[in-house]
Amino acid sequence: MTNIIESRLNAINKILQKAPCPPTLVAVSKYQSVKKITLAIEAGQRVFGENKIQESLIKWIRLKEQYTDIKLHFIGNLQTNKVKEAVELFDVIESVDRMKLTKSLLKHMKALNRYPECFVQVNVGEEPQKSGVMPCDAEAFIDECLAMGLPVTGVMAIPPAEKAPTLYFKYLKGLSDKKQLKHTSMGMSRDYETAIECGATHIRLGTAIFGKRE
Ligand SMILES: *Cc1c(COP(=O)(O)O)cnc(C)c1O
Repeated sequence: MTNIIESRLNAINKILQKAPCPPTLVAVSKYQSVKKITLAIEAGQRVFGENKIQESLIKWIRLKEQYTDIKLHFIGNLQTNKVKEAVELFDVIESVDRMKLTKSLLKHMKALNRYPECFVQVNVGEEPQKSGVMPCDAEAFIDECLAMGLPVTGVMAIPPAEKAPTLYFKYLKGLSDKKQLKHTSMGMSRDYETAIECGATHIRLGTAIFGKRE
C-alpha cells in the first residue's frame, strides 16, 4: 500500500510540476483511514482536505500534533453548530456560501483569535442539490464578506459531473481575477488537468491518490 500511494503522489506531482504555475495539491482524505493518510504524509504530502467535522476531529487532532506543518482544508457543507471546531482545526475553509455562516465564522474567529483563510464556494452549475452561492450573487456575496472582515482569499467550485468542465473553470478563474483574489480551487481526480490549464491554484484529489473511498 505504501508504494501505491507514494507512487500515485509522485506521478501527480510530476504532472503538476510541468504547469507554468504549479497548483497546490489538496489530498482529499475523507473516508480514508489514518493508516493511508500517514502513508501520504510520509511520502511528503502536507495539504489535506476533509468534508466532515466529526471525522476530521477524530483523525486530525493527533495527526496535526504529530506533524505540525500539515495544512487542513475544509471542503464540505459547514453547519453553523460546527463552526467553532472548524475554526480551531482547519487552516482553510473552502466552502463559505451563506451570510449566516459568514457571521458565525467571524464570531468564532474573533473569540479564538484564529483566522483561517476562507474561499467562497460558487454553485457554478446552479444545481439544486449542491451548496454554493449562485453565480449571479457571487460578486456581491464576496464583497459583503470582505466588508465584514472575513479573510476571503479565494473561490471554490465543483462543476456538474455530467458536463464538460472547461467553461465552468474559466468562469471561476475569471471571477477570482475580477475580485482580485489569490486562489481558485477547482479540479478533482477526473478533471484536474483541465482545471490546471484553466488556472487553478488548488486542485482537490481524493481517489487519484488514495483509491476508492472506504
Ligand atoms: C470528495 C471531494 C473531492 C475529491 O474527489 P475525487 O473525485 O476523489 O478526487 C474534491 N472536492 C470536494 C469538494 C469533494 O467533496
